[in-house]
Amino acid sequence: MTTQKKKNKKKVVVELTRGDVLKVAVAAVGSIIAAPLLTTGPLSPFGQLKQQQLEGVEPSGHGAQTGEYHWGMVINLDQCIGCEYCMRACCATNDVRADDPWNVVLPEKTSGGATFFLSRPCLHCQNAPCVEVCPVKATYHREDGLVVMDYDRCIGCRYCQVACPYDARQFNWEERTDENPYVPAWGDPEVERRPRGVVEKCTFCIHRIDAGFEKGLIPGEDRDATPACVNICPVGARTFGNLKDPHSKVSQLIESNPTLRLRDELGTETSVYYIPPKEGM
Ligand code: SF4
Ligand code: SF4
Repeated sequence: MTTQKKKNKKKVVVELTRGDVLKVAVAAVGSIIAAPLLTTGPLSPFGQLKQQQLEGVEPSGHGAQTGEYHWGMVINLDQCIGCEYCMRACCATNDVRADDPWNVVLPEKTSGGATFFLSRPCLHCQNAPCVEVCPVKATYHREDGLVVMDYDRCIGCRYCQVACPYDARQFNWEERTDENPYVPAWGDPEVERRPRGVVEKCTFCIHRIDAGFEKGLIPGEDRDATPACVNICPVGARTFGNLKDPHSKVSQLIESNPTLRLRDELGTETSVYYIPPKEGM
């Protein structure tokens, strides 16, 4: 299965410069292979720094879940009706550009020709190409498995955006002055807008997870500590929780249903599992 953008979404390739097209072409062949070449090879101004990172004791792109939590999501493609509520709530809550959402909902076809809808947030890969290529460690794993951004460190090189096999990252070309059409109908912004010149992406509403923990709430169980896209879904197609807890709802769903992970053959070890449509994909 592939993740194509809808017609009204940004056409990534046609907007790229010649240099970017070269990188995208390399990424299409295999971003995991391309990433080290772009960051350590002759194309990279950061080769020496990256080499130091690779030789040092710092963790690589592989997730380092050292604690008792690994946050993950299960999305039931058999239940999703393609309403895009999740996209709208995400845009409002995280003040994301409406024309370039973090969470997309894409129509797809099963092998039998039936339509289903593929919703794709950042998949918080445990073997994340985006983390692997970042020359300044502006994107990294937390010990709970989340792939996060440090906007103060990001230098806007966009290596992570090219390396992501799921097209889950956006670059801020301009200072944001747009009005968010999803505010307040779909929620109010709970985080600041990101500055010009950095890459951003879905966080699994990390601010809710962290604030919830401080209040003793359980992400995935208590709404205030749960991602907005999960809370808003009118058919309960999205479930969030701790993949390390065998009793969590996500673990139970994975245990009792056939599931798949997008482009699993790349070895990205995503933290998002999909329950496929009943008639297969
Ligand atoms: Fe990184 Fe893309 Fe994986 Fe998200 S989906 S962790 S942006 S490689
Ligand atoms: Fe699908 Fe739920 Fe998102 Fe609607 S809110 S598009 S049903 S996942």
